[in-house]
Amino acid sequence: MPVASADARGDGPPPAVAKARPLPYVQRMSLRPILLHPDPRLRTAARPVGAIDDSLRRLADDMLETMYDAPGIGLAAPQVGQLVRLIVMDCVKAEDEAPRPMVLVNPEITWTSDETGVYEEGCLSIPEHYAEVTRPAEVAVRWTALDGSAQEERFAGLWATCVQHEIDHLDGRLFIDHISAVRRGMITRKMEKLKRDRARGIERA
Ligand code: ZN
Repeated sequence: MPVASADARGDGPPPAVAKARPLPYVQRMSLRPILLHPDPRLRTAARPVGAIDDSLRRLADDMLETMYDAPGIGLAAPQVGQLVRLIVMDCVKAEDEAPRPMVLVNPEITWTSDETGVYEEGCLSIPEHYAEVTRPAEVAVRWTALDGSAQEERFAGLWATCVQHEIDHLDGRLFIDHISAVRRGMITRKMEKLKRDRARGIERA
């Protein structure tokens, strides 16, 4: 997911999260290109991660760097063309709050609240398009951390929206699947045009 849509669109100052965040614990990271919708890889269910090895750790580091650079608050491995069940996120917004980069291997939603929430979502694979999506307001998620430990946590607010959006990616689902078919078709056609223009080297005005 991108940073809050209001920031991403606005004429105001750049969003706070756009600032490069120091990640001293990771080295030799590199940005990976983000796939744009429509792309069959964004519609394919990702396979579970078997072993946590160096290449998976490298992928997670690269995804975090790519997410912060975008700037975004969440990114799923299929968005960089890797069809494995791995997501990264950091929904800390306040500038004076420490960043909280999270890496979730094989995440699973184990509980959802009856209460729902509405958030205007966007996606780094569908740039410049936003729509209100209704989802459970709170979820519990179980996952494996990069050190192999089992984790479980309850998420609320933006974190809940983000983790559900990113886990959707692992099942080949996009936020536009939660809105009307008419609107989805409209966005998809605009994205097809954007991709054609980019392929021909035309930048959008
Ligand atoms: Zn997304």
